[in-house]
Amino acid sequence: MDFDSFFKQALDGLREAGNYRVFADLERQSGAFPRATRYRDDGSTHEVTVWCSNDYLGMGQNETVTAAMKEAIDRCGAGAGGTRNISGTNHYHVELERELADLHGKDAALIFTSGYVSNWAALGTLASKIPGCIVYSDALNHASMIEGIRHSRADKRVWKHNSPEDLDRLLSADDPSRPKLVAFESVYSMDGDIAPIREICDVAERHGAMTYLDEVHAVGLYGPRGGGIAEREGLMDRLTVIEGTLGKAFGVMGGYITGSRELCDFVRSFASGFIFTTALPPALAAGATASIRHLKQSQDERRLHQDRVRRLRALLDRRGIPHMDNPSHIVPVMVGNATKCKWLSDLLLDNYGIYVQPINYPTVPKGTERLRITPSPLHTDADIDHLVGALNDLWSQCALSRAVA
Ligand SMILES: *Cc1c(COP(=O)(O)O)cnc(C)c1O
Repeated sequence: MDFDSFFKQALDGLREAGNYRVFADLERQSGAFPRATRYRDDGSTHEVTVWCSNDYLGMGQNETVTAAMKEAIDRCGAGAGGTRNISGTNHYHVELERELADLHGKDAALIFTSGYVSNWAALGTLASKIPGCIVYSDALNHASMIEGIRHSRADKRVWKHNSPEDLDRLLSADDPSRPKLVAFESVYSMDGDIAPIREICDVAERHGAMTYLDEVHAVGLYGPRGGGIAEREGLMDRLTVIEGTLGKAFGVMGGYITGSRELCDFVRSFASGFIFTTALPPALAAGATASIRHLKQSQDERRLHQDRVRRLRALLDRRGIPHMDNPSHIVPVMVGNATKCKWLSDLLLDNYGIYVQPINYPTVPKGTERLRITPSPLHTDADIDHLVGALNDLWSQCALSRAVA
């Protein structure tokens, strides 16, 4: 077989469908968030403002965080030196796990090399090792949860997105004696909508099911200490497992689960994706701990974040730029066409120094292509004016329809 021609053909298929991914070659500028230097293909550079980062609060450049990372490198060096079991557990990991357990009001926590791995490994292990387990998965769950559930080979039911009624219907149809696990997210990343956590917990409890909540797009951002939507609503104790990432609002890298001592010890002892991989570098753990501690006591970032989101939405409304209404910090500007979405994104980058990655199928359904905009506390009024002005120009040039006020 001519392998390369096979690869090329598959890639051409993606290009024709408008789904071929092109990465922006960026160098983030520490201390100047959300500014970055973009490298063009010809090697020349220009400055851009990043409008689609998941470093939602700019904590990746917070001086307390970077100082903690530098200090940890000076004390311990670069890498962890092994798996958690074989020489890789550093005191920084132990401290981070204590910090996370406290953040979510749980007995214990377990860290992984990413949020993806934490979902894949924890769901895969729980659903495969609990005898006869059935998993109930929200229809819009993240790929990492879907892959973990698939890997477990447990029976799976998919319930209608954010519908406790549909969840109840599916739970009622199954044998009451079988163990059940309900998996869902709090803030959904693409539409920015928020799950009815209380109602879902009520339904799960009635059926004796355990609950697994992915708070990846909420930790650091919501709740008085940044514990997420479940903290904000006083529901953390209703969830069996709360999962999160250290790579988004906390600005570093890594993922985790929190739960009872027994559950975390179980995953620690049986999850291949936890056991057979090198532990996070101590500096990442130190940076994450510093970031979590900072956001536990400071409200400034969260307050300013929500203020920037409100301002952007108001200015978009004034210009009739259609965006999805939702109760979170994610502002999806709706384009509804893959080619136009890519075209808008290219022009914003090349002509206006604005970087927003286009979001196309299969990440979102066809016809709902969008620019997913994530304002941060560090985007200024002038940044927002420039963005909305640019969108306004391009909306006219591209003859895109406007929202009616
Ligand atoms: C990004 C994401 C993850 C994965 O987290 P990483 O730390 O980036 O691997 C998990 N769940 C959801 C909903 C996500 O959006």
